[in-house]
Amino acid sequence: MDANNSQTHPSADQNNDPDWRSRANCAGDTVLFFAKKAERPQARARREAKARRLCEACEVNVECRDFARANREYGFWAGESEEDRHLLGYTVSAPIGIRARHHQNAS
Ligand code: SF4
Repeated sequence: MDANNSQTHPSADQNNDPDWRSRANCAGDTVLFFAKKAERPQARARREAKARRLCEACEVNVECRDFARANREYGFWAGESEEDRHLLGYTVSAPIGIRARHHQNAS
């Protein structure tokens, strides 16, 4: 998977899989679901809290979560961050953000 794959997130791509993406609560809200470059931990927590509220009220939450896990996606999907999926065993192939946060926490 490409590290800059926001185009596949349901917030950005309404036509890729109309079975569930067209019913995504996040339509048009792409910025909430992917970290900006050098995003600070507090900003990340605020952004993900907002995203999580959309996901909790989303009728396709299960389909979205399963897709993100199966495809080792980057970003925030169905209430789960890359790090959440990593801890559950669904690690992305190049977990840049996870490594960066690990180093931040260690220093
Ligand atoms: S669960 Fe969240 S990320 Fe997934 S489609 Fe719904 S609002 Fe978007």
